[in-house]
Amino acid sequence: MDREKLNQRIKDRGREFFKSISGEAPSVFNKSWWTGKVMDWAMKNENFKVQLFRFVDVLPYLSSSASLVRHIQEYFGGEQELPGVLKWGARGAGGLGKGIAGKLLAKTIYSNIQSMAMQFIIGENTSQAIKTLRKLRKDNFAFTVDILGEATVSEEEALFYQKSYLELLDVLHSESKKWKGILTGGDKDWGYAPMVNCSIKPSALYSQARAVDFENTVDVICKRLTPIVAKTKEIGGHLCIDMEQYAYKDITIEVYKRLRSKEEFRDFDQLALVLQAYLKDTDRDLEELLSWARSEGIRLSIRLVKGAYWDYETVIAKQRGWEIPVYTIKAESDAAFERQAERILQSHEFCYFACGSHNIRTISAVMEMAKELKVPEDRYEFQVLYGMAEPVRKGLLNVAKRVRLYAPYGELIPGMAYLVRRLLENTANESFLRQSFAEGAEMDRLLEDPQKIVEEKRKNKTTSHTSSATTRTPFKNHPLADFTKKEQREAFVQAISEVRQELGRTYPLIINGEEVYTQEKVASVNPANPQEVIGIVSQASREHIDRALEACRESLYEWRQLSGEDRAKFLFRAADYARKNIFKLAAWQVLEVGKQWDQAHADVGEAIDFLEYYAREMIRLSRPRRMGRAPGEINHLLYQGKGIAAVIAPWNFPLAISCGMTSAALVTGNCVIYKPATLSSVVGYTLTSIYQAAGIPKGVFHYVPGKGSEIGDYLVEHPLISVIAFTGSMEVGLRIVERAAKVKEGQEQVKRVIAEMGGKNAIIIDDDADLDEAVVDVIYSAFGYQGQKCSACSRVIVLEEIYDRFVKRLVEAARSISIGPAEDPHHYMGPVVDENAQKKVLSYIELAKKEGKILLLKDDIPQQGYFVPLTIVEGITPEHRLAQEEIFGPVLSIMKVKDFDQAIDWANSTRYALTGGVFSRSPRNLQKARERFRVGNLYLNRGITGALVERQPFGGFKMSGVGSKAGGPDYLLQFMDPICITENTMRRGFAPICEEDDWIE
Ligand SMILES: Cc1cc2nc3c(=O)[nH]c(=O)nc-3n(C[C@H](O)[C@H](O)[C@H](O)COP(=O)(O)OP(=O)(O)OC[C@H]3O[C@@H](n4cnc5c(N)ncnc54)[C@H](O)[C@@H]3O)c2cc1C
Repeated sequence: MDREKLNQRIKDRGREFFKSISGEAPSVFNKSWWTGKVMDWAMKNENFKVQLFRFVDVLPYLSSSASLVRHIQEYFGGEQELPGVLKWGARGAGGLGKGIAGKLLAKTIYSNIQSMAMQFIIGENTSQAIKTLRKLRKDNFAFTVDILGEATVSEEEALFYQKSYLELLDVLHSESKKWKGILTGGDKDWGYAPMVNCSIKPSALYSQARAVDFENTVDVICKRLTPIVAKTKEIGGHLCIDMEQYAYKDITIEVYKRLRSKEEFRDFDQLALVLQAYLKDTDRDLEELLSWARSEGIRLSIRLVKGAYWDYETVIAKQRGWEIPVYTIKAESDAAFERQAERILQSHEFCYFACGSHNIRTISAVMEMAKELKVPEDRYEFQVLYGMAEPVRKGLLNVAKRVRLYAPYGELIPGMAYLVRRLLENTANESFLRQSFAEGAEMDRLLEDPQKIVEEKRKNKTTSHTSSATTRTPFKNHPLADFTKKEQREAFVQAISEVRQELGRTYPLIINGEEVYTQEKVASVNPANPQEVIGIVSQASREHIDRALEACRESLYEWRQLSGEDRAKFLFRAADYARKNIFKLAAWQVLEVGKQWDQAHADVGEAIDFLEYYAREMIRLSRPRRMGRAPGEINHLLYQGKGIAAVIAPWNFPLAISCGMTSAALVTGNCVIYKPATLSSVVGYTLTSIYQAAGIPKGVFHYVPGKGSEIGDYLVEHPLISVIAFTGSMEVGLRIVERAAKVKEGQEQVKRVIAEMGGKNAIIIDDDADLDEAVVDVIYSAFGYQGQKCSACSRVIVLEEIYDRFVKRLVEAARSISIGPAEDPHHYMGPVVDENAQKKVLSYIELAKKEGKILLLKDDIPQQGYFVPLTIVEGITPEHRLAQEEIFGPVLSIMKVKDFDQAIDWANSTRYALTGGVFSRSPRNLQKARERFRVGNLYLNRGITGALVERQPFGGFKMSGVGSKAGGPDYLLQFMDPICITENTMRRGFAPICEEDDWIE
């Protein structure tokens, strides 16, 4: 192919295309109508655009006119500020006052937005959809129908989705008998294209679809798709499997291959798959798919699109520290599309091609390449979205004839979410439609070869900056596990099997660098299978504590005298070791405390974050800070480690919290006596290995697992201890505070206690909450790691207006999750940590039966191991014990309130103040929560667990704890004594001039 010539022909064709539709604009940009005016205003005013899209999103939840008026005011301001464009069509209505005029205006706005949504949707139900399809076919457009739905959060919803498709196929089949093929007049629209054509979202068929549970997810989706594919085949139709977020990409490709490998579907080439050109993986995926099909003798059908989730993918990847899976230069997506289209067209003998684009350059490129490659016309077609780019589809019809519209239908709630996606697509700065039809960009620029643009942009990028290798990079959180990557899934399996080889070992104490095996030992077991011994752990006595303290005393001076930077280096080395061994460190947690893969990985990630963050913080704090500006004196504020720290750690974040508390104490110049929780002593030992690998001096860190009754108080009360860092229950925390306050003989300083204690955390569900998100996030916050996090949600406070809808979806979602050993990633919930925890949770379930009404007691759980039923109970009020006492297990209380004020009052009605959450789309209520919801960590419109070091410094107040936030800028200060040194610099009336450089901040 002569590229230059081809490109010229593409441009010529593009120009012709533009000419053929000159003067026309897509209806979304038509300013004679409300939508066009609003879009115009939105593109000129970013703030209005954000508010508008958010308002569109919440609109279908506003069931009363009062609520509608209130939200309009909250989103767009009062009467004066309301943009004129919103009032369009409301003749005579002045403003948004409380009276009839206000209601009228609100109603007009509502119905304007509703009709905007209807522009992209062919109906709210099947019969409306069929009517529109009939009309479209009369205009010679073929279709592919898609059923819109809310996010599938339960198996009930997934099965309903499946059923809807089976019914839709029946209806379309009987209706199609009345139709004639668009180009053939027969039973096909053209070539091989059947008249009945549907598109389906695979993840909606399985509520528990997750990359970490790859095999099972593929299996269930295949099973649920099979009857739909079979019916499509039976009626002679076509089905396309849509491509969704990147997390489902490999799952979807695998589903497609497995279905096509089945004997019954090997020849069914009307089963199509979507590929997204904006993904960096797609060149490789396409090659693999083509060569698989070639070698298997399977005929394919591929729809190529650029991809609809660009903003989502970039934001999520940045939040989680992952490589961005999509191209970030728009022209790269355009160029990839052309490259991949060419590959598919070259394979036309066994691969049918559907080009899904509204971009005239892209379409022209496909047309010219097809011509060049002599692809028969009936081996490819063009597809556009219903309601978008009407001039493009018309132009396409003129030249290509084979045009299919992607035609979704469904109710208003999912309809609005779909509308928001389309509005985003239309108004994105880089959108071809916006640039061509709203901004009138130059035709030549729009038709430019995207590969050329990419090369120019890359050239400019490489010359732009260089960075210094000597400066340490700013802190960044360790990336969360990305189980879409097969290597990461395999690494976990491998790590668990390696750990299993090492089970049952005997562990010593480590005192002054020496291994000390004791007579008394305790076995730590796998809570999912108590027969399996994880390790047998030596137990420290008071005498061992004395030995450790003596070693600390000897090492303290030298350790404290090291510069902060030098101590920080040990932490950086420790972080390096943990990073290299992350899967194995996580695997120990899976087996010893029953953590799910993702959470165990996140725990080690958090430990790494603490090391990296506190090291940097220490470097910052160890520069003496000059105070005051008076001449003739120098004042320096600096910090010194307090002395010897006792760190008493919990089992629920067995590495992260242990590592956070010990590393903070160490880097600030303290020696540390570390007592892990008995239930996670083997994971505690892994921390010892991390510090050994980092070269922490022998006398500075000691590992002393032991019984609380033997060494707990002894350690806390010991006169040599100057700081105690504790995380655990309120009862133990308060006891430590009390004991530490009493001064013992020989004690030289007042002890500082940093205690992170319990929580009775609530999430409020406002009457306009997005339930797709609220249900999923409440489930994760309440039942992730079996509810055994101090941040876990144990109360959900729901406004009565939305109560029935929320509770029904919540209960069904909870019913759908699987409970079993954490080492099998299929299970969402595992065992509680031990028999005591099991008994305690079971007793609270009994209490729940008395205090409220049980809505779900999910007792399909393994008989062996410390499993408990997931439980949801309603009818709880603040007077109930269930609303006040920390359970530390998967028992969720639902509390019903009449309004948002009551919700806040009830949320605040416990002794705790740790985490809290609000799901609301009312700016006023979100503001109210900021002001009145008294918790240490408040989360708006997201789950309430999983705080990240530095981004969300963590910790509570009231009975939830004393001390400042872990992973925050004040944390290290608690382990140090501040000292101010003042020097008089004047000698006989002469004082040096103070240079600006001397001022160190
Ligand atoms: C029939 C049909 C079916 C569809 N099915 C699916 C589907 O299954 N899955 C799916 O994800 N989408 C699907 N889409 C939506 C489709 O992805 C978008 O409509 C399409 O990306 C818009 O591209 P365009 O060529 O029309 O417009 P253009 O304006 O040329 O391209 C816009 C696209 O470029 C990409 N982009 C934007 N900014 C950047 C950037 N900075 N860097 C890199 N790339 C960027 C994005 O993909 C964006 O959507 C479908 C579309 C049609 C027409």
